[in-house]
Amino acid sequence: MKLLVLATFCVAFAFATDVEEHLEKFGFMNKFQFDGSSIKHALEKYQKAFNLPVSGVADEATMKLMATPRCGRPDNDANNLFADTAWRKKALSYYYNNYTPDLSRSDVRSLTEKAFKFWADVAPLHFTEKSGGDIVVSFGSRGHHDGKRQCGFPFDGRGGVLAHAFFPPDGRLHFDEDEGYTARSSSGTNYLWVATHELGHILGLEHDTNNRNAVMYPYYQPYRANMQLHSNDIARIQRLYGRGQGSVNGNGGSGGSGGSGGSGGSGGSGDCKDLQASSFCSSKRDGCSKWGNDWKRYMEKNCKKTCGFCSGGGSGGSGDCKDTVTDCQKNIRGCSSWGQAWIDYMKKNCKKSCNFC
Ligand SMILES: [Zn+2]
Ligand SMILES: [Zn+2]
Repeated sequence: MKLLVLATFCVAFAFATDVEEHLEKFGFMNKFQFDGSSIKHALEKYQKAFNLPVSGVADEATMKLMATPRCGRPDNDANNLFADTAWRKKALSYYYNNYTPDLSRSDVRSLTEKAFKFWADVAPLHFTEKSGGDIVVSFGSRGHHDGKRQCGFPFDGRGGVLAHAFFPPDGRLHFDEDEGYTARSSSGTNYLWVATHELGHILGLEHDTNNRNAVMYPYYQPYRANMQLHSNDIARIQRLYGRGQGSVNGNGGSGGSGGSGGSGGSGGSGDCKDLQASSFCSSKRDGCSKWGNDWKRYMEKNCKKTCGFCSGGGSGGSGDCKDTVTDCQKNIRGCSSWGQAWIDYMKKNCKKSCNFC
């Protein structure tokens, strides 16, 4: 088990706490080695890993990626093929500890089977549903239990970490129940992507930070009607288990109904629109301001219009003078010091505190 223990740690610097937390949580920085320069080094490592411009500061592109919901496993062994570890058998069983109320049971079952099938289509792996099997699929909030034992890695509420899974021969796959899972929709959190990604870990794959389109990329990818494994995902799983085709035998619906309809919104900085369906955004309107930073960032990205976060390019001209994140006071010096990236960030998020209106 190579997950890091995620202890809360108050660093000496008041700024960039979230950035440091993120770097530490996902394996780019070791708090026990903290010395004023290590954050720069950690940021460089992070930026290099994700093919971002390597500036060593928390610039816009870096902050944007960090604000994206993601898998809870750290990236410390990302892209290291030799860190991938396989099961010693190719016939594996699985079962559900419980289900999410977000989806019908038949959707959970058919989408989970479809997720298994992505892997079984390219490697000789056989998955059979059987109670008490090798792999447990479980949903839980915050501190969670999967029917067998308490997990040592509590979830963080809506946004942020979506799910995590443990390496062979552990078999635990835990979904954060505080997410809003959806099937065949560009709203909410696409269950199929999360399940397929986490099954990659269950089967022994580490993250692939180099390829945005790889299913093993750690950050959430918006819904795509015809989701497929990336050639890197396929090469990695075949390196562990060989080429060939396996099978999926669920007790209920069979490996089916994947996806149709909707197109995954992406990117789109600058223009003022909701990337998620407006019905989703308005139902989560409180997330614009009341549910904490992770939610605020999620909404800023996906529900700009509904939340009134549009800034007309970030220079403060949009009329509404308010802060859109909660840590403005803490980072007040970022309004004028700490470099251009911080000023840009504060212009966008802390208009009121910085007097940028
Ligand atoms: Zn992951
Ligand atoms: Zn867990």
